Amino acid sequence: MTAPSNTYDVIVVGAGISGLSAAKLLKASGLDPVVLEARDRVGGRTFTVQNKEAKWVDLGGAYIGPTQNRILRLAKEYGIKTYKVNEQENLVHYVNGKSYPFKGSLPPMWNPIALMDFNNLFRTMDKMGEEIPRDAPWRAPHAEEWDKMTMQELFEKLCWTRTARRFATLFVNLIVTAEPHEVSALWLLWYVKQCGGIMRICSTTNGGQERKFVGGSNQVSQCMARELGDRVKLQSPVYRIDQTGDMVVVETVDKQTYKAKYVIVATPPALNLKMHFNPELPPLRNQLINRVPMGSVIKCMVYYREIFWRKKGYCGSMVIEEEGAPIGFTLDDTKPDGTVPCIMGFILAHKCRKLSSLSKEERLRRICEIYSKVLGTDEALHPVHYEEKNWCEEEYSGGCYTAYFPPGILTQFGRVLREPVGKLYFAGTETATEWSGYMEGAVQAGERAAREVREHLSTCFSLLRVSKYQFLPV
Ligand SMILES: Cc1cc2nc3c(=O)[nH]c(=O)nc-3n(C[C@H](O)[C@H](O)[C@H](O)COP(=O)(O)OP(=O)(O)OC[C@H]3O[C@@H](n4cnc5c(N)ncnc54)[C@H](O)[C@@H]3O)c2cc1C
Repeated sequence: MTAPSNTYDVIVVGAGISGLSAAKLLKASGLDPVVLEARDRVGGRTFTVQNKEAKWVDLGGAYIGPTQNRILRLAKEYGIKTYKVNEQENLVHYVNGKSYPFKGSLPPMWNPIALMDFNNLFRTMDKMGEEIPRDAPWRAPHAEEWDKMTMQELFEKLCWTRTARRFATLFVNLIVTAEPHEVSALWLLWYVKQCGGIMRICSTTNGGQERKFVGGSNQVSQCMARELGDRVKLQSPVYRIDQTGDMVVVETVDKQTYKAKYVIVATPPALNLKMHFNPELPPLRNQLINRVPMGSVIKCMVYYREIFWRKKGYCGSMVIEEEGAPIGFTLDDTKPDGTVPCIMGFILAHKCRKLSSLSKEERLRRICEIYSKVLGTDEALHPVHYEEKNWCEEEYSGGCYTAYFPPGILTQFGRVLREPVGKLYFAGTETATEWSGYMEGAVQAGERAAREVREHLSTCFSLLRVSKYQFLPV
């Protein structure tokens, strides 16, 4: 008997890297999945735009690095090449209105007290991370105590100097696009730990920002979607999930109904607030999705005629500590063949909120001004093109790069992040235990959820077989 149309083994909600990874694995396991995606494109928080000025540009997630083996494995499978982000020349640290060139991952501190303070802070953060289990941070011996604290309170406890505190603030802004006073210390320490520690998370060479995909990160999703063919339904925002019958019934805003044995929800947790669940979600899950906001970031690419910064001995990486500067961190975004000179910069956390209301032209003007100060040249004042993306305005992301946990949430609600609700399973980078918040975490989470469903299906199948034989007449 053929299944009625719109009936599948598994419905995956969301065609980001996580949902597509789940569907890919389900299909490879001989199951019949469908992916419902709200937007008119796949890739979610990865978004590559092609045009004549930029050739291709990643407006969302872009960087990959060592230990991110799952996303690298997918790229290899599809023949997507990577290249190293330029870090040949000096990086530059701009603080108190002056530029200090440096090499390595973190800017050196000239003041010996500040240097000691800084080393102590980062060493202590890694040490604290050692006692936090990747898959269950709420079980850390000091989980309750650290979860009650914001990261700002932890910095106040650990740092003696303003220099270290100020740099630590930029560090938090950059890695999670939120302010230290907004995030739980337990969550932030866990976040750093599950990426491999401070050096791994903040380094370009040998760290999370080491490489990019030639042609853009969206290719990973596009290749998976191509493989899945018409199983991926675009412009299909899910608004209702009903699991009161034998099959789960999923409805989309355009009034399509899909049925399946299981559903994998592969969106950021807070976006589940747009969905109606029948029966209602259990209390902890229902409250969790109200309590995990998304970060705030605008990704900005300024294009120039020449790679003038390299001529001046700079690689294009700027660490900018100045309240008036829109951008906190930059990387060279010139194409690997040296064409399309470009600097990528992030407007982070409170600055993103503050500068969202400016015109695009005004943001560009302010960005060029600070680049000109930091790099010490007027050449930065003459861009030839500009691209930006404010992720706070994206209805189906709610902000970026990822969800953050304010104080008190991880210990009380964290344990239900990956816990299935009846026939609903949860994926999305937020549910990962390695490189959560990143493309790598998205793959890990998607494949884990697919395996959970697959295992549940095969358990049900063998139980059925056992019961069939049990009742056979001897
Ligand atoms: C500016 C920026 C910079 C970043 N930098 C990096 C980086 O350098 N390296 C890195 O690894 N990561 C980076 N990230 C993060 C990375 O992009 C994400 O972690 C990853 O793409 C998340 O994938 P996902 O599949 O879990 O979620 P998403 O990509 O958010 O996918 C969820 C999908 O669900 C869809 N959806 C939502 N609601 C519904 C609904 N009701 N019905 C149907 N579909 C729905 C969405 O449209 C979306 O396509 C960055 C992100 C941004 C925005």
